[in-house]
Amino acid sequence: MTLYLDAAASDGVSDTVIEAMIPFLTQAYANPSSVHTDGKTAARALSAARESIAQNLGSRPNEIIFTSGGTESDNLAIKGIALAHVRNSHAHHGDASGDSRSRRILISAVEHPAVAESAQWLHDFFGFEVVRIPVDAQARIDLEALQEEVHKGATLACVMMANNEVGTIEPVKEAVRICHEAGVPVHVDAVQAAGTIPVDFHDLDADTLTASGHKFGAPKGLGILCKRSRVGMEPLISGGGQEGGLRSGTPNVAGAVGLAVALQEACSRMPTMIPTLESSRDELINAVLHAVPFARLTGDPNSRLPGHASFVFPGINAEALLVDLDTRGIEVSSGSACAIGRSKAPSTLLAMGMSETDAKSALRISFREPLSSNDRESIIKGLLGSLAELHITISHVHA
Ligand code: PLP
Repeated sequence: MTLYLDAAASDGVSDTVIEAMIPFLTQAYANPSSVHTDGKTAARALSAARESIAQNLGSRPNEIIFTSGGTESDNLAIKGIALAHVRNSHAHHGDASGDSRSRRILISAVEHPAVAESAQWLHDFFGFEVVRIPVDAQARIDLEALQEEVHKGATLACVMMANNEVGTIEPVKEAVRICHEAGVPVHVDAVQAAGTIPVDFHDLDADTLTASGHKFGAPKGLGILCKRSRVGMEPLISGGGQEGGLRSGTPNVAGAVGLAVALQEACSRMPTMIPTLESSRDELINAVLHAVPFARLTGDPNSRLPGHASFVFPGINAEALLVDLDTRGIEVSSGSACAIGRSKAPSTLLAMGMSETDAKSALRISFREPLSSNDRESIIKGLLGSLAELHITISHVHA
């Protein structure tokens, strides 16, 4: 039997979610913009989904924008806010020269490529300065550095809620307060958090927030951007003006319904699931550190995602380790499942000050269901088996 320990890829979409979606793929397959009866049914389902999602994310229905996933939501928030700034500065100054002080995007040094590359795009095409705010050895953003930079002026700051590679939960609320004191809006990438730990958009006081469906049991290719009306944003996709003009295109009604049901399921499981996953996680961490004395836990030991255990095994090549584990029926990830081109060291670990070689020995074990003691034993047994196998390879390479 295979043990899937890569939460993003595991579990699949539940029957409840699929059943809720089916009517909107079959008999109620109308365009929600149409005025006929079926169109109205679709429109009602879309707005019910919006309401339910808003409630589960501490947002308002008119603040929810449906997108094609976390990547699109991050792109829309970052580029959209920056382009609104460009438009405003053109209107006020006639050119870009007046706003150089604020043509800056601050991003934590451990952001997902969907954020980091969007900021880089703004640099390449619009000359924005991208400032990376350092993190400590546990991947927590340096709030003093953020404060210092934010006071030099910025268009936007981006802080993720929880890190995909090492599971650290970031001090987002504090970061938002610091940025707002300097009048700088904040985008929060909550892809790893939404559906896993409580996310409250208004309580965080963020200006925009990203969530992604496949992290909480919705089909892949479905995302959410929460956006406060106070923040200006240009659309990246032009067309018929759906989603408040910010994301044109015929809405994916079945997808929105699936998103809403999956999020509702995930949120109602949370009160019992979080403590169970946390103890599962801590037992696994202890077992791994005990069985493999040279292994090191990465990320914050306490403030971390409930079903997330990540390690480095200095001296080992993680790629080889996960391939060998796979042959033993244990599917894990060597860092972030979202980054392709595994020969690169996970960027979060480098930002945490780790050497490239150590970073390349990183393994991430993530799960949405608690692990049984049998699961834990299988993981340890598999790990010890794989490590024994790889030590031979490593001494051979070093010889
Ligand atoms: N942001 C974070 C923190 C992620 O972990 C991911 C992917 O897992 C994304 C953004 C991109 O989301 P999506 O895969 O839905 O495009």
